[in-house]
Amino acid sequence: MARANHRSNNRRNGAGRTGPAGTGIVRTGVDKEAIQQAVVTILRAIGESPEREGLVETPRRIADMYEELFRGMHEDPTELLTTGFEEEKHKEMVIVKDIPFASLCEHHLMPFHGAAHVGYIPQGRIVGISKIARVVETLARRPQVQERLTSQIADLLMDGLRARGAAVIIEATHLCMTIRGVKKPGSRVVTSATRGIFRENPSTRAEFLSLVKPSGR
Ligand SMILES: [Zn+2]
Repeated sequence: MARANHRSNNRRNGAGRTGPAGTGIVRTGVDKEAIQQAVVTILRAIGESPEREGLVETPRRIADMYEELFRGMHEDPTELLTTGFEEEKHKEMVIVKDIPFASLCEHHLMPFHGAAHVGYIPQGRIVGISKIARVVETLARRPQVQERLTSQIADLLMDGLRARGAAVIIEATHLCMTIRGVKKPGSRVVTSATRGIFRENPSTRAEFLSLVKPSGR
């Protein structure tokens, strides 16, 4: 019970990065204390001594890193689109190309990273370009699979902006494919999702593809 109280107190005051001593609960909702203990367990399990000089700070570093990499778990990307503005005149395609992102695959918790190309056709409502990039980042900062990340971005644009259509292409390299298992360095995975008019109208889709086509490759 005491622990539950600590959590709610910490939520309420909302200040500072760390919770009350010993709880390890932070505002981001990531339990860093539990992550540190888990890393110590893994180090022991592989035959290492977590007390060794080079490893002493490793559990803390990994906890800090996971807090950053999984920040999107506790953020709602739909909020990013509420800052959109009404713009009746612009009904043409908007494309944001080459949005860099990094995520962790949920099967191995290993990084996959690359670029997202995002397009939509507004229907009276547009959003700042930087918000599109933040949508990608927020959804990437969770345990993910590339296919789901791709559709989630497209669905969010459709719902959040009431767009006429949305299209997303993601190209990424998966470390779990390039350094282990099938070991195919350099291979990239390409996924795409189309919604609304991009799905219904082949020429709209073709326009999008021609505009995001990588230059000079
Ligand atoms: Zn994987």
